[in-house]
Amino acid sequence: MDKKTIKDVELKGKRVLIRVDFNVPLNKDLKIDDDARIRGALPTIKYAVDNGGRVILMSHLGRPKGKVEESMRLTPVAERLSELLGRHVKKLDDCIGREVKKVVSEMKDGDIILLENLRFHIEETKNDPEFAKKLASLGEIYVNDAFGTAHRAHASTEGITRFLKIAVAGFLMAKEIEYFEKALSDPPKPFVAILGGAKVSDKIMVIENLLDKVNAILIGGGMAYTFIKSEGKEIGSSKLEPEKIDTARTLMQEAMQKGVKIVLPIDHLISDKIDANSNTRVVETIPQNWMGVDIGPKTVDEFKKELRNAKTIVWNGPLGIFEISKFARGTEDIARFIAGLNATTIIGGGDTASAISRFGLKDAMTHISTGGGASLEYLEGKTLPGIAVLNDK
Ligand code: AMP
Repeated sequence: MDKKTIKDVELKGKRVLIRVDFNVPLNKDLKIDDDARIRGALPTIKYAVDNGGRVILMSHLGRPKGKVEESMRLTPVAERLSELLGRHVKKLDDCIGREVKKVVSEMKDGDIILLENLRFHIEETKNDPEFAKKLASLGEIYVNDAFGTAHRAHASTEGITRFLKIAVAGFLMAKEIEYFEKALSDPPKPFVAILGGAKVSDKIMVIENLLDKVNAILIGGGMAYTFIKSEGKEIGSSKLEPEKIDTARTLMQEAMQKGVKIVLPIDHLISDKIDANSNTRVVETIPQNWMGVDIGPKTVDEFKKELRNAKTIVWNGPLGIFEISKFARGTEDIARFIAGLNATTIIGGGDTASAISRFGLKDAMTHISTGGGASLEYLEGKTLPGIAVLNDK
């Protein structure tokens, strides 16, 4: 990896300002539903503490849009983090200002404080330089461990590095960069991509970028139907983006010219409505008023054929409406199959990651990304602003 990490800097006695992703789901009693993101940041936090740093953590939570929202305070996060670390994490009521500066100036080596939700200030998402400067003034070393927001140029992810010379990746961030870089620049082959999810429009740039890198792309989910339609086939009332039919056709032609195999579903689980109590059946041709909600068993077999010898697999987007369990079979069959392969398996964040964790297969994959949007932009070949600004090795 060509970026410096927290291991490349001396932390002893330094104020280490760490951008983490504590954007955790809270229930209506403001209790944390899933603390995976807090756990994910522990290695970096522990390392900074163990090496004598004075740790200042900052994060956003939800979308308060520049106002203080009581339901979006980071207080429950500080409590959970204290439990997980077995030491007190002091939570402040703001992320900038005189009181914050005072507390920070009194910190001792190994202390940990958590600043209040960055997005209580509209300047955070606007990447306001004055706000970034105020955040930067709190630390001496900047560490970004929040891959999930690295595709956004915000004050705490991008602007801040103009005022803090030392800017490095935390362990979580470094791991994300390593896996994606390897897959996109020097992947062991055959390299197969699995793409699904609701919309073609979200994945066009991913397909374009991957066409120069992969041996095959397997397409399922709602996005498959625009491709199937582009071949002149019937898709009933399945998900369709009419204005993307031509693009889908062009992508198929480009793939052919580049020698990349695109595999579309050849059979489907169809349903008369999106509901657990619907009528369903498996077909090869979708009749009117029925919609494809999952790939069918023959498609699963076709996908397996392509995946069997793969050495690198990247997957972004579920292959059916997996939130309804009777439409989750195709996604689950493919997940179980790749879990048993001797290949590097990289799972994009968001829905694909939740599907994998629902099937209990989290530990069977090589890497599950913590960033939905960020991983998608990586696969599009974009430079993520929050990564670009980190110090080069
Ligand atoms: P995305 O956010 O683009 O990755 O899309 C994820 C969503 O795609 C999930 O909520 C799935 O329910 C949905 N999805 C998957 N397959 C289909 C399908 N055949 N028809 C409609 N939506 C789908």
